[in-house]
Amino acid sequence: MSDSASGLELQNLNMNFGSVRAIDGIDLTLPEGKFVCLLGPSGCGKTTLLRLIAGLQYPSSGNIVFNGKSIVDVPSHKRDFGMVFQSLALFPHLSIAQNIAYSLRIRGQSAAEMKSRVDELLDMVHLPGVGDRRITQLSGGQRQRVAIARALAIHPRLFLLDEPLSALDAKLREAMQVELRQLQKSLGITTIVVTHDQREAMTMADHVVIMKDGKVQQYGPPLEIYRRPANAFVADFIGASNILPCRVIDDSTVELFGRKVATSERPDALSPGQDAVLSVRPEDLHILPDTQRDTNTLSASVTFIRDLGAQVEIMLAHDAMELTATMTPKDKPNVAVGDEVTVEFPPEACTVFPA
Ligand code: ATP
Repeated sequence: MSDSASGLELQNLNMNFGSVRAIDGIDLTLPEGKFVCLLGPSGCGKTTLLRLIAGLQYPSSGNIVFNGKSIVDVPSHKRDFGMVFQSLALFPHLSIAQNIAYSLRIRGQSAAEMKSRVDELLDMVHLPGVGDRRITQLSGGQRQRVAIARALAIHPRLFLLDEPLSALDAKLREAMQVELRQLQKSLGITTIVVTHDQREAMTMADHVVIMKDGKVQQYGPPLEIYRRPANAFVADFIGASNILPCRVIDDSTVELFGRKVATSERPDALSPGQDAVLSVRPEDLHILPDTQRDTNTLSASVTFIRDLGAQVEIMLAHDAMELTATMTPKDKPNVAVGDEVTVEFPPEACTVFPA
């Protein structure tokens, strides 16, 4: 990437814990000033990667380059990175102002300098005038803001957060996601957030790194990953997908349960006759309310209807294979549990991956 000199570059990074390969040959360039989410299932190596970047862990091999210089041998406290952990790690015996000023005090700033910076930070995180209060007098969301203010106090060169919102209830969490994103945008600071919540990543990130088994599966803007997943794992992990076994016929046709289905172009890695999977998003399936036979369709029976108010989910079965279709209430077909229906697969919404 052209801006690698002013960003963060991970070069063939590996981290082993005994026989566990937590990070497996990661090569990645994160440009400056962006909001990046590390996203993946439990145990995929997100926290380990963040800790390597933070300098809390030394890699088994590989290099980490920041603004053109290797930082592998720079101790954590000399990297000038701001960090927020899941536990927040605030000091309960100190006031809010003392918590925020903690790293400024270590750096020998005067009382006046500290007060001015603390006031500025409290304004920034929408908590003006609470500096003298105790941490224990704050709500979960307010503590979160204090932890963010504390991490930003030193004007960090990189802002690292590990599941920062996971302890908050759903509503507050969503509000804080927006707040954190707005704060990052206004400061323009390169920010890396670990999350296992794809909705959170989609809300906040300029770029998402999808990880599995210590490897990067895909890296890119959230919508690009949603629309063009690199493999079946990503398709299923980012937004739900129906993942169905199929066999490749040619460049843009597969056999699905004995029927020919046209798809978007197959990847080069697949050749005719090969077993593969077809991925199609629930919102892309169309349900036709009778068993009319047409091209790109499959018959199925309705097994369950979940009406969530703003969205309707219809579960279907074709033999033992389950499918889910989603739609808005106004687009809901007039079907009931037990009905035989026709499910239409729009070719452009059908992506084929190696099985
Ligand atoms: P979660 O979402 O559950 O926090 P994660 O994606 O952050 O998971 P990591 O915590 O980075 O995953 O762990 C990656 C792998 O490395 C896991 O298999 C984990 O058990 C292992 N691991 C992490 N830290 C250590 C350690 N200190 N000693 C041994 N194994 C470890």
